[in-house]
Amino acid sequence: FWEISYNIAHLMHFIPLAISSAASVQHMQELLDEPVRGADRPGAPVMPPVMNDIAFERVSFSYEGTDTKVLDALTLKLEAGKNIAIVGPSGSGKSTLLNLILRLYEPTEGRVTIDGVDIRRVTRDSLRSHMAVVFQENMLFNMSIRENIRLGKQDATDAEVEAAAKTAEIHRHIVSLPDGYDTLVGERGDTLSGGQRQRIAIARAMVRNPSVLLLDEATSALDQTTEAAINRTLLKAAEGRTMIWSTHRLTSVVEMDEIIVVSGGRVLERGSHHDLIEKDGLYRQLWDDQMHQPHHDAGDEDDDEDD
Ligand code: ADP
Ligand code: MG
Repeated sequence: FWEISYNIAHLMHFIPLAISSAASVQHMQELLDEPVRGADRPGAPVMPPVMNDIAFERVSFSYEGTDTKVLDALTLKLEAGKNIAIVGPSGSGKSTLLNLILRLYEPTEGRVTIDGVDIRRVTRDSLRSHMAVVFQENMLFNMSIRENIRLGKQDATDAEVEAAAKTAEIHRHIVSLPDGYDTLVGERGDTLSGGQRQRIAIARAMVRNPSVLLLDEATSALDQTTEAAINRTLLKAAEGRTMIWSTHRLTSVVEMDEIIVVSGGRVLERGSHHDLIEKDGLYRQLWDDQMHQPHHDAGDEDDDEDD
């Protein structure tokens, strides 16, 4: 249950939109009927548009009602403009790390800063206005493709929506449909393949023109071929932005500038794929394990466009 409400919570935070006419959305509002965490401090200034390094300064974190330290005095600097992967075993706190950057939760101890500013000190909306997130499962609503993409930015023009779809390499597929951008995606987007749904979600993120692109297992549910194609799209889309990609699928991270390995609530290793293979530590172990796993291919077709 929390997985669902977690995604909805994210979505609702990123979509300050009145889409209340949809019955399903009303249901989500009920799910969201929980006290807002991390409300703005009185008189909080807006986050300035220039964003540089994101830093965790001795951040400890436990979820409410538990005393397990998911993060334990974790210190980490994420350099602006880089492609950074957060990897580690399941349950090691990768998603939690992203949640803290988004201020969906706040540290129990320590602080998260951007450009040296504690992110609790600025307004949440202004903080998030610089960011976009793509999850493993992304909600599509039974409205047009255009409206689904526009959920990322309420006032996006048609040209902006199309530019985002091009970046997500789904534009050519959309215009090949009889109704083009006006095509209804169907309940839960089931008229689209998994890869196409993911590309719509990427377009929804890109329409925000984020300086920080956060990905949480964004291609983990896809078959290998689609995963590889969408990974390429994402690396291109992230040019000139900071990309922070939490994933347990190591095939997604080989080409990234830096890989951060988290385990036991701390940063265990960091470096390039090559460095970490050489180092022969946990990353190497996870890599070897994954290379020996039988791959299951869901047979999901993908339309990789090379615009
Ligand atoms: P990862 O993304 O690396 O798999 P998570 O950040 O999702 O790990 O979770 C880290 C730990 O925190 C896990 O033990 C998980 O069960 C726990 N956890 C995650 N979310 C919550 C929550 N909302 N409430 C309580 N525990 C949680
Ligand atoms: Mg996770």
